[in-house]
Amino acid sequence: MQKKNYQKRVIEIIDILEKEYSDARTALTFRSPLELLVSTVLSAQCTDERVNKVTRDLFRKYRSAKDYAQVDLAELEEYIRPTGFFRNKAKSIKSFSATLVERFNGEVPASLGDLLSLPGIGRKTANVVLSEAFGIPGVVVDTHVLRLTKLIGLSKNTDPTKVEFDLMEIVPKEKWRLFSNHLILHGRAICIARRPRHQDCKIVDLCEEGIRWKKENL
Ligand code: SF4
Repeated sequence: MQKKNYQKRVIEIIDILEKEYSDARTALTFRSPLELLVSTVLSAQCTDERVNKVTRDLFRKYRSAKDYAQVDLAELEEYIRPTGFFRNKAKSIKSFSATLVERFNGEVPASLGDLLSLPGIGRKTANVVLSEAFGIPGVVVDTHVLRLTKLIGLSKNTDPTKVEFDLMEIVPKEKWRLFSNHLILHGRAICIARRPRHQDCKIVDLCEEGIRWKKENL
């Protein structure tokens, strides 16, 4: 019964957010699953705009997993320095690229299990690549999705993997990608961390935190 209530509420939220943000795709620029994988790794703690600026030159220079696997680490670090945490990111890119060459013929695999077997690739990145590059539904749980899911009251869990599974239960599969992207956009535009704009929020009546705010303030 409770699951049914969640599902009903989620459908209403989806309807509203779809009107607000239309068919939102990732803002990262990519032409192949490999480029998206690299961009997603670079986007940790960095804006999509800055990543796109960096990858404009990076993707001209390095075109295949073999290129990244053979790259001189210091050279790669220089290219990606503006994205922050560049040493770890460079190591991660070189390392998963070597695995792609060794085990996947240089191609990015289109399965969650295989993606998770790549060094340094977690569920969030794997789901971004699956849903955006291969069109395979996946729920992406980043900091915005984690925060909004809790505020709206769609999951009591705080662990991203558990939240991902909770959302998979209540969001229709064909909406997984869009739902994540819409929550991310809503988190950036309206439900901003530490200063959510409840008064401007179109889903205020479907959100536990919003309902609480209305009771106290209106
Ligand atoms: S009502 Fe407030 S807490 Fe809920 S989603 Fe909107 S801005 Fe965020």
